[in-house]
Amino acid sequence: MNGQTYADVLTDRYGVGPEGTLNDFISRRDARLLLADQIDLNAMVARYGAPLEVAYCPQITLQVERMLGWAAEARARSGYAGEFLYAYATKANFAEEVVRTAISAGAHYETSAAADVVIAQRLWRQGVLPSDRYIFCNGSKDAAYIAAIVALRTAGFTRVVPVLDDMEELEALLAACDLPLLLGVRERHDPGDVDVRHPGGERFGLTPVEIERVVERLRQTPHQLVMYHAMVGSQIEDAAHWNTRLARSAGAYARLRQAAPSLALFNFGGGMPTSAYSLGFDFDYTGFLQRLMQTLAATCVAHEVPQPGLVGEFGRYTVAAHNVFILEVGRVKHGQDRAPDWLLLNGSLMVSLPDSLIVPGQEFIILPLDGWDRPARQVRLGGRATCDSDDFFPRPGSQPLFLPAPYEGQMIAVFGVGAYQQMIAGRGGAHHCLTPEMRRIIIERDEDALVVREIEPQSLGQIMGLLGYADVMLELPAQRPTRVPVERRTTRDSQRPARPARRRGAARIPQQARYGASARS
Ligand SMILES: *Cc1c(COP(=O)(O)O)cnc(C)c1O
Repeated sequence: MNGQTYADVLTDRYGVGPEGTLNDFISRRDARLLLADQIDLNAMVARYGAPLEVAYCPQITLQVERMLGWAAEARARSGYAGEFLYAYATKANFAEEVVRTAISAGAHYETSAAADVVIAQRLWRQGVLPSDRYIFCNGSKDAAYIAAIVALRTAGFTRVVPVLDDMEELEALLAACDLPLLLGVRERHDPGDVDVRHPGGERFGLTPVEIERVVERLRQTPHQLVMYHAMVGSQIEDAAHWNTRLARSAGAYARLRQAAPSLALFNFGGGMPTSAYSLGFDFDYTGFLQRLMQTLAATCVAHEVPQPGLVGEFGRYTVAAHNVFILEVGRVKHGQDRAPDWLLLNGSLMVSLPDSLIVPGQEFIILPLDGWDRPARQVRLGGRATCDSDDFFPRPGSQPLFLPAPYEGQMIAVFGVGAYQQMIAGRGGAHHCLTPEMRRIIIERDEDALVVREIEPQSLGQIMGLLGYADVMLELPAQRPTRVPVERRTTRDSQRPARPARRRGAARIPQQARYGASARS
């Protein structure tokens, strides 16, 4: 790599230039790194400092709309008769603005837990979630989860679909609910299909024999089996393998449909991959859906059953790309014996990117905000906010990471962090080595304007309070704020309450080519 600039390294590796589009949500223009070709990250960090989290909700809308477009194209190409339903799997990110944005873009709702049903019911009552959307309830259901589902149904929401994960669940639901229910069954993985690197998926669902028993059990009841659920995995980039697995499930669906005429939906679950983790990502979404629709159509013809509505539950795909962390190199330690240097960042990688520890081979797109014409060097990132020897990235076996030298004061953007990272890290909690949560900038769209909210970083006092040391705070020296104060820009509309974020501290900004440039305000 000697002599190569950072831009050269990226071009060699991914075929992208230093200017223009880097992937479907990152671009670089006039030496500034942009999220969604809209949010100027260099300007954001100049305005707010680092560490900084930027959540750009309009990207979520775009993700939903793109998928609906690809599905419509796949349907046109395959002549598929069933409709396509996009559900947001909320466990990827439960933040209120995230869930509300996905629903507003047309998504149905997929739940994973009792509290999730409570959120869905609240959104329905508020009018955010329309009555004609489905709420698919997955996962093993304890008494609280069953009670939340029954409460939602009893309150008058008819399109809640508990997806049975065991036979006891069915009995518990039938005992608790007098009103007719729509039900789903989830297919249990065949032992021969279990991926040794991700064996956890095997615990879900029902065997074919159990599914037959469900059909029998429902015969003399007012309840209807409407959905067959066949989830294969997560971030599945091998479309051919995925299609092969789903072809088998399509056969199982069609045979079940012959015995259960109320069946009307085939759900392929999560697994839709996101472009958010690697600039080298390549997946033909339309091609995948077209092939699946062709398979389903042919299978249904062969079994003389109608083509079902096709449901996808999109977690990662919906939200991974909308969120970015920006961290600053606070100290450099040279590697020994020609090993790459350590860049110690003003945050924690294990707190902010827990999947880097949990998911084998998990990558993130990490780009410097400046210095693309400077010489590239291989580096290792360390989280300075902890003293943990596991707080580093890239992990063993991952792609080597290059950044431009010299490194002091370098600002680094970590993309693709909008799915799972904050939920697994425990947003708002007390973290490893008491690493405080970063300042968070939440950007939403309201018609022709962007609404910007700023959430202060977690204070030492908040963390101490969470741990039961509330009184200790009195003895701690006052913290000096680190942020750069900048005038907020407001517009003619600022008197009118902004719909997405009618909260104190929200600024309304007319939408223009880019947002974030303090120089232009
Ligand atoms: C987690 C989960 C999803 C979402 O998976 P992604 O791979 O993030 O899209 C969808 N359906 C079910 C049942 C899940 O458990």
